[in-house]
Amino acid sequence: MFRKVLVANRGEIAVRVIRALKELNIPSVAIYSEADKDSLHIKIADEAYCVGPVSTSQSYLNIPSIMSVAEVSGADAVHPGYGFLAENAYFAEVCESSGVKFIGPSSEIITLMGDKARAREMMIQAGIPVVPGFNHDPEDLDKTREKAEKLGYPLLIKAAAGGGGKGMRIVHNSRELERAIETARSEAKAAFGNAEVYLEKYLEEPRHIEFQILADEHGNIVHLGERDCSIQRRHQKILEEAPSPALTEELREKMGATAIKVARTANYLNVGTVEFLLDNQNNFYFIEMNTRIQVEHPVTEMITGVDLIKEQIRIAAGEELSIKQEDIKINGVALECRINAEDPERKFMPCPGKIQNFILPGGPGVRVDSGVYSDYVIPPYYDSMLAKLIVWEEDREKALLRMERALSEFIIKGVKTTIPFHLKILNNAYFRRGDYNTNFINRRLKTED
Ligand code: ADP
Repeated sequence: MFRKVLVANRGEIAVRVIRALKELNIPSVAIYSEADKDSLHIKIADEAYCVGPVSTSQSYLNIPSIMSVAEVSGADAVHPGYGFLAENAYFAEVCESSGVKFIGPSSEIITLMGDKARAREMMIQAGIPVVPGFNHDPEDLDKTREKAEKLGYPLLIKAAAGGGGKGMRIVHNSRELERAIETARSEAKAAFGNAEVYLEKYLEEPRHIEFQILADEHGNIVHLGERDCSIQRRHQKILEEAPSPALTEELREKMGATAIKVARTANYLNVGTVEFLLDNQNNFYFIEMNTRIQVEHPVTEMITGVDLIKEQIRIAAGEELSIKQEDIKINGVALECRINAEDPERKFMPCPGKIQNFILPGGPGVRVDSGVYSDYVIPPYYDSMLAKLIVWEEDREKALLRMERALSEFIIKGVKTTIPFHLKILNNAYFRRGDYNTNFINRRLKTED
């Protein structure tokens, strides 16, 4: 096992990882930017080092600075969390060559899955269903036009290096195509440093269903069931649940087996997520694999009893998985609401500032993963997520009541939050019936945009 682990992140995920390290009896090293000197993750870590000024490129993305902290502190492993360097193959490579274990897959796997167009090709070769589509060759727009016509509109342009719902553009007809490709390419270049794009058939009203994978160095791969992440705003998840109300046991088995096949095809290692879109005919299509822990991992933990962060650490230390597929039992229902410091009545504008009062909900089946506290000043430079509120109950009906109860108990004063918006979702009759897809917010809820 590791001597000491550096947590290369901030906010709730840094807190979550440090908690797992403490329970494994492994000393933790936190890093922070100058804007984060009062952050909770620093207070609970065994050691903490400032890695640079507020700008993320000079702090949380500053590889030389982070590697010096690893060296000075004597950390022999790094946990990247999600975001920042979690899917940065170069960082994983630097760790590998410095003898510091990167807690995640190898840099090769990160590179492969980070190129969504290439990952797609690989899965087609392996016989995995993918959304029909093709790569755009910037030298041959006519070919793209021809293929687009054949596939039929609407189409979705996606950045090969994309992520976080960014760099996507819907094209409704051939007149829009050329302009949309140009804009998507320049957006992709600006956001990801890579202009490459591909096109997919735009599925009408799919569900976003993702499977949690665990893979060790000894060739064992299991899945821990699915999460339904269809409640999205601008392609970004805001509420997740597990298991999905849309899956039968038979479909779960089929999709789970496909998710394992995806992981085997990629020679996958450590914790990962295979994302699918599911249409209303129960056809499912691979869209991408995420090579890191996901924001929404707690819902899987609640229904399986598996601590995914501890598993990541054990796998990285070379241990064999202690669970077999047949031992994994889905128990009850879990929901997660992402509580952001945003004003739902003003286009979800971020609301940084001082939290005057922060009182957590509690009681049976309630979990809060957060990196903030009363009197904490939310810096305006990073993401706006304050907390993840997770509940568990034995069935969906009861879980919904418990979430409603926990949301209404949660007191956050001083900044606007998305709590009222979550209550609106929970009170929607379609949502309560489990009848929803990725268009739910546009179609069933009135929002400002
Ligand atoms: P990212 O990596 O940026 O999150 P994904 O490929 O995972 O991008 O897609 C994010 C979301 O965008 C999906 O959950 C879904 O809501 C929507 N989406 C992606 N591909 C399609 C598609 N072909 N048709 C319809 N919606 C899609």
